[in-house]
Order: sequence, then structure tokens, then C-alpha cells
Amino acid sequence: MQLLDGRKVSKEILHSLQKEVAALEKKHIHPKLTVILVGKDASSVSYISQKQKACLTTGIQWEQFDYETDVTTEILIEKIKDLNADETVHGILVQLPLPKQVYVPDVIRAIEPKKDVDGFTAYNLGKMFLSTEFEYLAPCTPLGVVRILEHYKIAIEGKEVVVVGHSNIVGKPLSVMLLNRNATVTTCHVYTKDLASHTRRADILCVAVGKPGLISAEMVKEGAVVIDIGINKTNEGKLVGDIDFEAVGKKAAYVTPVPGGMGPMTVACLMENTIKAAKRLNFQ
Ligand code: NAP
Repeated sequence: MQLLDGRKVSKEILHSLQKEVAALEKKHIHPKLTVILVGKDASSVSYISQKQKACLTTGIQWEQFDYETDVTTEILIEKIKDLNADETVHGILVQLPLPKQVYVPDVIRAIEPKKDVDGFTAYNLGKMFLSTEFEYLAPCTPLGVVRILEHYKIAIEGKEVVVVGHSNIVGKPLSVMLLNRNATVTTCHVYTKDLASHTRRADILCVAVGKPGLISAEMVKEGAVVIDIGINKTNEGKLVGDIDFEAVGKKAAYVTPVPGGMGPMTVACLMENTIKAAKRLNFQ
């Protein structure tokens, strides 16, 4: 089995983006990512610090706005409107999850699509739905999957792809992005009957559920490419994905590790989107 090393590939992406930022700086464009964080959820704080570190590496400017957990939908929308209007800002990211009293669809809808570097607005998801040609700012984790497959020269076209999980931020857009690249895609979820009968057919199996050990070796085809997107914390505080890594690794041709797989790729793609947004806001 060959490891699909997200940490290594993301470093390469960040390195090349560093050069792009330097070229933009010469044209007096200073790519800037703004982040809205509500509360101090440990996972959110950890994800944000990884994103901030990547900004430091690439030279993208970072500005963070912190709110208490009693914040309202209206307060967040007001802030987003200010950031939409601010010409020095190229990317706006609202770290999810948000507290129960905040209506997430309204918050996401408030983000100017050209600055929607997470790719969550209906505009960007709609563009993605139309075809690869129209993909504008695609959601970062699905984009990370495409990028890691491209890096290892793993063809998508004509492949039997199974995506487990159909969330709006990972499973669903990933299925569409792989379909756009001419894979035959099956999307499975909690209502899927006999999950193994689907996963066993997959040349490329992508799992984004959040259940450790969901995918055993018996559920994977010999020689498959397995992309483990899940992030779970064990009782011992260890990070694991959704697949039985040891056993699946003996059967698959390629596997992404957790940690060190899709996490760093997601962050690298956020940086890629921020630079893309900065270029488009300035040159188009
Ligand atoms: P989510 O919104 O909770 O979605 C989970 C999906 O899994 C849902 O579509 C759910 O179906 C499905 N599901 C639940 N139990 C299942 C089962 N037994 N068999 C098949 N499908 C099942 O989560 P998410 O935001 O997509 O994230 C999924 C995982 O990826 C989480 O562990 C998250 O931490 C991780 N993640 C990682 C990154 C990264 O950067 N590496 C980024 C984002 C997310 P129903 O909706 O029908 O219940």
C-alpha cells in the first residue's frame, strides 16, 4: 500500500502558493483571509490555528473576529456585510459549527460569493453543479480530495467511485465534483441498505462520516484507492479516521492517513481558494 501523504502534498501546494502571494504583493495586492469564530470549541480553535499557520507560511494576511456563544444571526450578518464591502478582504470564512440560536443558512447566504473561500454559498455550489468549467470556489475538503488524486496521478475518469456520507460540505459536493470528472459515482448515507455491497465495488472509496471503524477490510476491494476524510477522537485522545487503517492498508493500493491526510489538504485548498479569490477580485 502506498500512503497518500496529505501533509507532504499540502506543503508543496503551500510552497507554490507562497510564490503566487509574492507575485501578487509586487502588484500591491495583499491577499487577506478573514475568519469569524464563535465561542471556543476545542476542535474549531485547533482547525483555525492550522489555517492561521498556513496563512503565515504562504504570506496571506489573516484577521480573526471572535464572538461569544450568545451572538445572534443578525450580529454575524452585519459583520459579514462589512467584510463584503471591505476591498482589502478577499476571503470570508465562518468557522462551523455555530451555536443553536444562530441560523446558519442565513449566515452563509450573507457571504459575497466572490469571497466565499469555503465554497458553501448556493452560488458557488450551483456553479460547481454545472460542470468543472464553471467551478469557481469549490468546498475545500472535496477540492482537497481532487488535488491529492491529481498529485498521485490517480485517474478519476471512468472509475467506479463510492462516496460514503452526503453532507452539504463534504459528501454531496465531493460526489458532484467526481461526477464532473467523469467517474461513475454512488453516494451512500445512513439510509443505504447493505453499505458493504457498494463499497466493495469501489475503485476509489471516499469516506466522510465521522464513525471510527465504519469501513473494515472486508468492505474494500483489493487494490482500491481509499480516501479517509473522517476525523474522530478516541477515548485515549488519539485522532483516527473512519476506516480500519491497519487492515484496509493491507488490501488497498493507496490510503490516506488520519491525521496527515485530508486535514492538511483541506487547509491548503483554503489557501488556494483565497488566492484565487484575491486574483479574481482584482483582475476580473
Ligand atoms: P456530517 O454532516 O455529520 O455528515 C455525516 C454523513 O455520514 C451524513 O451524510 C450521514 O448520513 C452519513 N452517515 C452517518 N452514519 C452513517 C453510516 N452508518 N453509514 C453511512 N453513512 C452514514 O459530517 P461532515 O461534516 O460531512 O463530516 C464527516 C466527517 O469528516 C467527520 O468526521 C468530520 O470531522 C470529517 N471532516 C474532515 C475534514 C477534513 O478536513 N479532513 C473536513 C470536514 C469534515 P445522514 O445525513 O443521512 O445521517
